[in-house]
Amino acid sequence: MYYSRPVRVFLGILFLAFFAWYMHTHFAGATMSNDVGKAQPAASVQTVQAELQPQEAEPVEPEAVPTPEPTPELSPLMQTAKANADAKGLPMPPEIDIDDFQYILVNGDHPLDPINYEPSSFAYLNMTGEDTEVRTGYDPNRQQVDYRIGQPLVDMTQACKAAGNPIYLSSGYRSYNDQQQNFARVCYNNGITDGKNAEGNYITMPAGCSEHQTGLCCDITDRYYEIKNDSIAEVPTVQWLAQHCAEYGFILRFPQDKRDITHVMGESWHFRYVGVEAAQYMTENNLVLEEFVALYGVA
Ligand SMILES: [Zn+2]
Repeated sequence: MYYSRPVRVFLGILFLAFFAWYMHTHFAGATMSNDVGKAQPAASVQTVQAELQPQEAEPVEPEAVPTPEPTPELSPLMQTAKANADAKGLPMPPEIDIDDFQYILVNGDHPLDPINYEPSSFAYLNMTGEDTEVRTGYDPNRQQVDYRIGQPLVDMTQACKAAGNPIYLSSGYRSYNDQQQNFARVCYNNGITDGKNAEGNYITMPAGCSEHQTGLCCDITDRYYEIKNDSIAEVPTVQWLAQHCAEYGFILRFPQDKRDITHVMGESWHFRYVGVEAAQYMTENNLVLEEFVALYGVA
């Protein structure tokens, strides 16, 4: 094929132009692909690392998470009780509401509020356990306690009786006025004015400071005693009660060896209702009510 000179020149220029365009495009493309090529491995290393890191970190995470979880279940009250028990080397105290009626602390430093308090309903029980009925109608020939401890008290005294021990419910609820007269009489008979013996422990409580006014306790012996003294601790009825009372929610409120804490002379006949959980914890750990409620911040 023959082309005229101008045509050949034109074709030559066209070829050179095409060559220049091609080279430019190719060079630029190569540079781009080189950049991509260089960036690619770096990017894929990062990707691999990014993929590996969560996989490596994942098994570590569950070990780190559980630590804060167990604590928040305890209420602030129970956290206090646990911390106080821990400090004394005691086991975990029962999960209770310390404001419930059966934990009320009444002693020489903690008078009732109001001072002339009386229970809202009463139970009247046969004094010698002959009939087990929990009556609610006033009867001066039966023993009067807070209605809420009527049934547990009957259950306990019946079990004691079934074990062969006679029962006598010597003293339950005493009103503020009853205790005032009681206090005056005992003080007069012992030539004292503050209700305390030579040791400094109460032998009778001032009115408003007696647990008997709560109706949540009962003096229990095997028969009528005009004067109650240490010898009653040897009576089988009282010994059986001391051993089993916690099973029915009662505690021996004033043990001989806790006088430095209760500031009350030993009273082996005085049983106080606190509920089974608290009674068992206190008995197992040799605590009186003052020590028990102190775990929950009541002082
Ligand atoms: Zn008593």
